[in-house]
Amino acid sequence: MTDSQNIKDLVRANEEYVKNFPKESSGLDPRPSRKLLIVTCMDARFHPSSAFALALGSTHIVRNAGGTAEEALPSIRVSQHKLGTEELLLIKHTKCGMYPDEGPDEIRERVIGDVNLLRNHGEVKGSISGWLYDVDTGEASRVV
Ligand SMILES: [Zn+2]
Repeated sequence: MTDSQNIKDLVRANEEYVKNFPKESSGLDPRPSRKLLIVTCMDARFHPSSAFALALGSTHIVRNAGGTAEEALPSIRVSQHKLGTEELLLIKHTKCGMYPDEGPDEIRERVIGDVNLLRNHGEVKGSISGWLYDVDTGEASRVV
């Protein structure tokens, strides 16, 4: 079996990454240093680590189609109850493939709905905020 071009590219890129892997990133604690959890969409136009300058070991990032809170609940439980995160950002974005007919205002309503779901959920705790990310500008703005 021959590797696809993607696999060849990824292997090559990872070899470079390993060569430059910073020593201080080795042996990090599994509990995120910022005690921060981001729940967001899997959309390829949004890289939370780049958009927010997140260092390795600092933040949990849970991704699924649409950045839906309900689907993320099992991971949120582990993040908060086993690995100590205390602040949750739920981030949806413009032009989401899950909601192709919805504009920014409708996506904001979805953010509010998901944040309310999380705030009223008995097992979810801590600070919870909701955000909208613009895939055309890179700007994240707080909704709630
Ligand atoms: Zn999306």
